[in-house]
Formats: sequence, C-alpha cells, structure tokens
Amino acid sequence: MSFMKQSADLQPIEDTVFAVVSMAKQDIAEHGADAVVDATIGSLYDEQGKLVAYQNVFDHYNAIAKEVKAAYAASFTGNPGFRTQVRNWVLQDQPVTLNTSVIATPGGTGAVNMTMINVLEPGQTVVLPEICWGSYNLMAAQAGLKTAAYAMFDGDHFNLDSFEKVCRCVMSEQGRLLAVVNDPCHNPTGYSMSLAEWRQVVRFLNELSEQGPCVILNDIAYIDYSYKGTHSRDYLSTLNELSGNVLAVIAFSCSKTLTSYGLRCGAALILGQNAQRVCEAEIVFEKTARATWSNIPNAAMENFTWITTENREAFEAEKQIYVDLLKQRSGTFIQEAAACGLVHYPYKEGFFVTLQMPDNALRDQYHQKLIDHHIYTVKVNKGIRVAVCSLSVAKVKGLAERMKQILDSLQ
Ligand code: PLP
Repeated sequence: MSFMKQSADLQPIEDTVFAVVSMAKQDIAEHGADAVVDATIGSLYDEQGKLVAYQNVFDHYNAIAKEVKAAYAASFTGNPGFRTQVRNWVLQDQPVTLNTSVIATPGGTGAVNMTMINVLEPGQTVVLPEICWGSYNLMAAQAGLKTAAYAMFDGDHFNLDSFEKVCRCVMSEQGRLLAVVNDPCHNPTGYSMSLAEWRQVVRFLNELSEQGPCVILNDIAYIDYSYKGTHSRDYLSTLNELSGNVLAVIAFSCSKTLTSYGLRCGAALILGQNAQRVCEAEIVFEKTARATWSNIPNAAMENFTWITTENREAFEAEKQIYVDLLKQRSGTFIQEAAACGLVHYPYKEGFFVTLQMPDNALRDQYHQKLIDHHIYTVKVNKGIRVAVCSLSVAKVKGLAERMKQILDSLQ
C-alpha cells in the first residue's frame, strides 16, 4: 500500500545525465583528466577545468550583510527593485510597448513550471520542441499534462510548418494553447531563430488566437551567451505585434547569466496587450509562488539588481570573456565537424552542440561506444549532446574527428 496519491508516478527519475557524469568522474580518477573528455556538464567551465563563478558577481554577494541574506524578500512577487531590473535587463533597449509584470521565481525552472500549471488544466496538452531540455517533460507530467512535440528543424531552419500543425491540432482539441519556445541558444542544439522566423511565429499565433487564448512561453535561460551581443534581444520587439488574445511569458534565469546556478533566482516576465489579462496572470502566479516556494532569496535578488546596474560594465566585460571563449570552443568543434562530415543540428550560439542521430537505437550504441573511448556525452531525443561550455579549447581540438571515426566504426 503506497502512501502516495493514486496518480503519483512512483517510477524513480531516470537521471541519465547524473549516471554518465559519475562514470566520467570515475574514469578521470582512474586514468587522469588528460585521458578523458567529459562533455556532459551543462555549466560554464574555464580552460583549467574549473567551474566559472564570476568575480564580479560573488565578490559583491560575499560582502552582503548577513541580515540581508537572512531576511525574507519584500514581497511574494519579488523585491520591487529586482522586478524592475529584470524587465530592464531582459528587454534592454527594445521598444516593447506591451503591458508587463514580473514575478520572481526560483530560477527559470520556477517560471516554466508556474506557467504550465496555471495556463492548462490537468489532462490538457502543452506543446514542446521535439528535442528539448528534459525537465519540460517532467514538469508537464507532474502537472498531469500531456505533451505534443513539434519538429525543430526543416533543413537548417526552424520548422514553422510543424510548429503550426501541432499548435493547430492542440487548439482544435482543447480551445487553448500553451507552446514552449526555448530561444535563443536552444538547449540542446544551440539554434536561435531569425527575426523573420519570430515574425512568422507571431503572425501565426495571432491567427490561431482567433480560435482561443494562446500563451507563448519563451525560455531564455541562455540568452546572455548569445554571440549577437546587443542584438540578442532584437526579436523581442516582434512581440509588440501580438494580438490581445496572445500572452507571452518569458522565463528568465540568473543561473547562467550570473553563473549562480545554486542561488535559485529567476523570474517570469509576463507581456500582453491587455493590462487586465497581465494583471490576472500576476495574481495567479503570485498565489503559486506563495503556496510553493513562498519567496525568493532576498540576497540573490539584491545581488542581481546591483550587478546589472552599479556593476554592469565590469560584469559584462567579465562575462564577455566567456562568451568569446564559448564562441572559440563551439567554432572549433563546428569547423572540424564540417571538415570530417560529422553531422549536427544547426548551431548558432550557446552552451551545447548536438549531433544529429534520428535513430535512437543507433544513438544508444554510439553513446556507449564513445564511453568505451573515454568520451562522455549526454543522450537527448534524436541526438548526442556535446557540452562545449565545459570543455577547454584543447579538449575540443580534434574531438569531432575522433567522434566521427567512432561513429564510422559502428556503421
Ligand atoms: N531552461 C533551460 C533550457 C535550461 O537548460 C535550464 C537549466 O539547465 C533552465 C531553463 C533552468 O535553469 P534554472 O532553474 O537553474 O534557472
């Protein structure tokens, strides 16, 4: 007899990432770091193999008075200065004319989950990318939601046809839509949609919203690692064209932006034409916050606000060193992959490159074979994820060629 409710899923989480991470660690302990390529870790590491924690973030955090760290936040929706600054930081100089509200959340995870549970009823369907961050599926399952997946790519481009088809189908079944778009710097492919693709998505949502309310959840966890610099936010002004029947929720995370994964700080930025609808979402989200995590770490919010205002220049300069490093690592991998014919999904920018493996059985075989050669990666749907964010340039050099040879040996 279980003490858990009848609908609870008693199956343990199959943490494939954790398992392969431990195997890599074990291998390093046995054979030394030089013999192993650990491309599993989805956090930024420096060239010496150490987790990056920005000086310009943590020097200030460490100096925050203990009473500030000890205190509750000013509000369940977040500290007022933090809420304002999240809006400023996310939108930067984009002339966004929509009504907005910000709710502080424990990382991007909180914002994504809060949107799923409040937009859809249990039993309804959320639209997700076919290749995506695994937590989306877990969150949907925990909320009692079904999922429908759109194919990410048509050749080298966003698969708008698939996105439209899946959204139309879900709309015709349930009369409302929640669709997740993880952009820019999609995890795990590193794809970023073009301005034209965003315009098409907005046009399509406006049309579909004549049949019922549409919510677009834009997960921007990696936006501050875009290679486009100040142009990383250009697409946000396309949201100005959204009709009154479409709401946008942007899931923002300090985890990657500040290299502060453990501080659990992020936000949901709600945007819409209709002030009353934005306010409604804020009311509902605040209740979720209060009922689940209550409030967000006060010092983490205060730190974000200070870093991105008073210390902005120094922080951005430090971050840029790693954006450039990421560009160098990914550039080397992509170039070498092209030279040896190792096929990956279209990569533009961000933490990961994902090899294209449409056959999941072959992918499993390949993943194991890579491990046999001391190369550790993460299996994703229809792909093998290579975390260039945690590999030094030296480790990246020659990796694509080695991976291609191992793949060829299977076929
Ligand atoms: N979205 C994506 C695509 C991610 O990969 C992650 C973390 O890995 C997150 C959101 C959320 O991270 P956090 O909850 O730490 O902000």
